[in-house]
Amino acid sequence: MILRALSHRPQLSSLRIAQMASHVNNSGINGAHNGVFPGVSLQDLPKSNTFTANLPSDPQFKTPSDSHRALRGDLGPRIVKGALYTYVRPEETEEPELLAVSRAATKDIGLMDGEENTVEFKQTVAGNKIFWDDKTEEGTYPWAQCYGGWQFGSWAGQLGDGRAISLFESTNPSTKTRYEIQLKGAGKTPYSRFADGKAVLRSSIREFIVSEALNGLRIPTTRALSLTLAPKSKVRRERLEPGAIVARFAQSWLRIGTFDLMRARGDRALVRKLANYLAEHVYAGWESLPSALEDPSKPTSSAINPASGVPADETQGAEGVEENRYTRLYRAICRKNAMTVAAWQAYAFTNGVLNTDNTSLLGLSIDFGPFAFLDNFDPGYTPNHDDHALRYSYKNQPSIIWWNLVRLGETLGELIGSGPKVDDETFIEQGVTELFAPELIKRAETIIGNVGEEYKTVFLNEYSRLMRARLGLVSEQESDFEELFSELLDTLEALELDFNHFFRRLSPVKLSELDTEEHREQKASIFFHSEGMTATSGVTESAGKARVAAWLRKWAARAKQDWGENKDAEREAAMKKVNPKFIPRSWVLDEIIQRVEHQGERDVLKRAIAMAEHPFQESWGGDKKEEERWCGDVPREGRMMQCSCSS
Ligand code: AMP
Ligand code: MG
Repeated sequence: MILRALSHRPQLSSLRIAQMASHVNNSGINGAHNGVFPGVSLQDLPKSNTFTANLPSDPQFKTPSDSHRALRGDLGPRIVKGALYTYVRPEETEEPELLAVSRAATKDIGLMDGEENTVEFKQTVAGNKIFWDDKTEEGTYPWAQCYGGWQFGSWAGQLGDGRAISLFESTNPSTKTRYEIQLKGAGKTPYSRFADGKAVLRSSIREFIVSEALNGLRIPTTRALSLTLAPKSKVRRERLEPGAIVARFAQSWLRIGTFDLMRARGDRALVRKLANYLAEHVYAGWESLPSALEDPSKPTSSAINPASGVPADETQGAEGVEENRYTRLYRAICRKNAMTVAAWQAYAFTNGVLNTDNTSLLGLSIDFGPFAFLDNFDPGYTPNHDDHALRYSYKNQPSIIWWNLVRLGETLGELIGSGPKVDDETFIEQGVTELFAPELIKRAETIIGNVGEEYKTVFLNEYSRLMRARLGLVSEQESDFEELFSELLDTLEALELDFNHFFRRLSPVKLSELDTEEHREQKASIFFHSEGMTATSGVTESAGKARVAAWLRKWAARAKQDWGENKDAEREAAMKKVNPKFIPRSWVLDEIIQRVEHQGERDVLKRAIAMAEHPFQESWGGDKKEEERWCGDVPREGRMMQCSCSS
């Protein structure tokens, strides 16, 4: 804990200057679907408590029974030290109403069809049933995590799960993927601070839908299983609002903020314990982490030093710095986050509150407050009404995630900087000697700098891969970045055109429709809003068409190189697999909230979640008019809306 604040911060805000290097593997999406496995009941789902079994609990309520026997009010709020969590049960929910379930989620967890209709399921996701027996004291007792965080660039101290309570971990018997199932809005915990432990219906609808939409888009994310209305729970925000509970799940809910808090308290033993836990129980073991020892013949291997492109030898990482296993863990975390932020940029998703407590150690999109997808392409847009400095704007996301990862690097600095001494008894017991400190600091700083380069490389490779796919290109060409990606972004920005619509509308365009200047200019208008050219900068309709047409000419030439003649149908099919028709935009979410909260509608949620789960489809067999409206042009007053943090 002796590292000072480091200032490494790769300048990633301008994507236009990027160079491309080798490929990076896609980390894949959460949970593989298995067409054959019929699933099991909630009761039969294999459950575990790896997290609570391996990490220290709140010393004041050490065991489940200690917590269970205590009055809820006695648990907190308070400061909890030397622990990763407190055992705490959800508050009871009166007359819960299950509003909607994600079918993709039940499948990924391994639940059988129809399980969501059982009383057991409904009571569990409402917080009224736990899988722990108070007589035998067997089973898994719920818990809330302890963490801290840097919020808007300032240290915020202890935060923790103030309204999320984890029920148990479950393992899908078919895919063997283990998830931690958690209820958000389930009542006060020791970490609720001054707040009520509740979540309102409107923000719960938003989190429920966007979690599944991101997963549908193959963007790593925490997931949502169900949405439950708590009709008797009136929650005070700006007004009195109905409460709700989202049952959500993830392979891990650990955040950078979890490490931040241990560091702030100087708890070096717990930092090490948590790092070990992360590598051994969240990642697939130390041997699975990026290594200088990997087969250098694999082009996608992280054995290639991303800075130099040269394979590194056994213990010498980039620049001859000794890499111990904690460095490899740090690299893995940074790489995962680079992949995810690349996908956010490629699909124009903005989280809105990228504090370190909202940055996952598994690189998952996590904690959905005032998030939004961009409508018109405006890189300076932030969905967060209170983010006056635009810290969490779209274009800042890659740099801000790196800023957060540097905070993590500082926490892990002692472990990664100690190099081969990391397992020396005196180092473990007593820490860094004065004599060793300069060497340790220098090594840690060098490593963090190198990992920053790796982060940048992984980010740019993944971003390019996704953009290329979205444009229907197969081969990689160095000039694509400048001539196609950058020019497209500049055009969308200047003409105030919709980002995600552009790609979907481009997909079915035939190359023969772009063969003359006149044809290209005619085609250009399919990318305009329904009112025609709306750019506030005063660009005329004809100038706008000419600019889009010029881009289409370059694109058509590249597409022809990659596909040859008469392959429009194949290219269209490939493009529609990566260019969603449905995106849960703010105006659509607002409409759904209105209809559920004020008009008592329910089925609208079921239709929306089905669209979110499968965003690339052409139709969903629901209400055709509604589907087309939600996927169509954004009503003028509904573009680029902002949200407050109160949820
Ligand atoms: P967020 O901005 O949602 O990431 O939340 C930041 C911190 O505030 C986390 O520790 C949350 O658990 C906590 N928090 C937010 N809203 C509430 C609430 N209504 N009740 C208790 N804790 C909350
Ligand atoms: Mg949070």
